[in-house]
Amino acid sequence: MDQTADIVIVGSGIGGSSLAYSLAKSGRRIVILERGTHLRDTPEARDDAAIFQKGFYRSTEEWVGTDGKPFLPGNYYYVGGNSKFYGAVMYRYRREDFAPRPHMDGSSPGWPISYEELEPWYTRAEEVFKVRGDASQDPTEPPRTGPYRFPPVPDEPAMAAVRNRLSKAGVHPSSLPLAIDIDEWLRRAQTGWDAFPNTGAGKIDAETGPLAQALSHSNVTLLTGASVTRLETDPSGQRVIAAVFIKDGTEQRISADVFAVAGGAVQTAALLLRSANATHPNGLANASDQLGRNFMNHNTTAMLAVDPFSANTSVYQKTFAFNDFYNQDPATGFPLGNVQLLGHITGNILKANAPMLPRWLATLIARNCYGWFLTSEDLPNPESRVLVRDGRIVMHWMRSNMRAHETLIRRTRTVMRKAGFPIVLTRTFGRKTTSHQCGTARLGNDPATSVVSPDCRSHDIANLYVTDASVLPTSAAVNPALTIAALAIKAGAAIDRS
Ligand SMILES: Cc1cc2nc3c(=O)[nH]c(=O)nc-3n(C[C@H](O)[C@H](O)[C@H](O)COP(=O)(O)OP(=O)(O)OC[C@H]3O[C@@H](n4cnc5c(N)ncnc54)[C@H](O)[C@@H]3O)c2cc1C
Repeated sequence: MDQTADIVIVGSGIGGSSLAYSLAKSGRRIVILERGTHLRDTPEARDDAAIFQKGFYRSTEEWVGTDGKPFLPGNYYYVGGNSKFYGAVMYRYRREDFAPRPHMDGSSPGWPISYEELEPWYTRAEEVFKVRGDASQDPTEPPRTGPYRFPPVPDEPAMAAVRNRLSKAGVHPSSLPLAIDIDEWLRRAQTGWDAFPNTGAGKIDAETGPLAQALSHSNVTLLTGASVTRLETDPSGQRVIAAVFIKDGTEQRISADVFAVAGGAVQTAALLLRSANATHPNGLANASDQLGRNFMNHNTTAMLAVDPFSANTSVYQKTFAFNDFYNQDPATGFPLGNVQLLGHITGNILKANAPMLPRWLATLIARNCYGWFLTSEDLPNPESRVLVRDGRIVMHWMRSNMRAHETLIRRTRTVMRKAGFPIVLTRTFGRKTTSHQCGTARLGNDPATSVVSPDCRSHDIANLYVTDASVLPTSAAVNPALTIAALAIKAGAAIDRS
């Protein structure tokens, strides 16, 4: 069965949905192909044991690691992609992230565009995700054309007390920019939202935000359960002419004028590599040999700050962060990263991450702890890459800049102790935590060293775009989703002009 459209988008995550939203008003016939289905509301949606211990929502698709061994990555395939589970932290990259700068173990190359060029697109992304925050609190907040439209999610009393203790310890807590309607979220059940699936409208994710708006236009269609296996070009190799996909067990084709791939940083690279043909023997959009390279994934650590003398009575907890070490470590001068609250840690969540702990101890620690998520920049390296070998995805992640991350852990531990948390436990995440994957099809001006232009268009194939986390040329040290959305909305405007 052959179908046609004006624009085909592969993937309905943050990147694909934001692109569809950006183009919806153009009137062009847009078809989004999504391999997953809608995430339905069932009792498991707010059951921490089902989510964290039993892996109820986990895919069974394995990737192969550097050591040649298969592993189950924390990658989700639903309408809305990984954002169905995200913490809804919608940071802009800091202004300093766009310029080259030295790091403890190397350097970050900067971007081909400035923060100021992306600013209007950040504003549009914040609008569609209804981001709430307060730009006056964070000394690293980049310049903005206007304030956040909605006030921050309020601290619960237990967390207001922690904010106060941290201020007294000398750091500057600032409300997180969040795409959360807290009343709506809590109406379903009294839990946090970080890593919990969004089955209603409480979290504004790719599906409930930009995709919903795009689908309100009759020219936009979503096909679920449609897994794209390859893109085909014309015999000259200059244009993509069709996407081939499997739906309901049968192979189908759809032709279009424009194709955008937004399958997530790993799956996008894999799809374009698998689409190799006689005119593109190394994969589509890969004349530079950069496709799949520069894979980054952030260095991240969970930190539990325990106060044995007072219980954490909060429900959702994740309302603030501090960026005191983001741009500069006071001792070495190097950028270290971001420290933000995790969602409330329960005994079941702790037990899932530390199975060796006896249940009573996990419950006790969870009752008295405050969970933090520490993020440091992973630097681009062409040898850190995604490959397809014998049809299987190989994730050869060479993490970098760990000395900066270890320094961030030390500095944060000192802050926590000063704030009255005598016990501080940490666990650094490894390759299975692929949540902040990016960089496999980086944008740039030079076709020799990048895969797509700053408008996310392939340097090699004029009607092929990549609009997801793949295009990020650096990972910075803040959560990526808003930057992915801003770039995709910007790409939509470029497609509309063409
Ligand atoms: C638990 C968790 C918490 C997170 N918290 C935050 C946070 O607070 N803030 C933040 O900024 N980021 C957060 N992230 C990261 C954020 O969710 C991702 O950076 C973002 O969602 C990536 O969007 P994407 O469009 O690049 O890809 P994806 O989300 O991976 O979307 C790609 C979509 O394409 C589909 N697809 C893939 N291949 C194909 C194919 N061949 N054919 C058809 N469809 C295909 C997939 O099913 C998926 O729906 C979190 C992630 C996780 C897992």
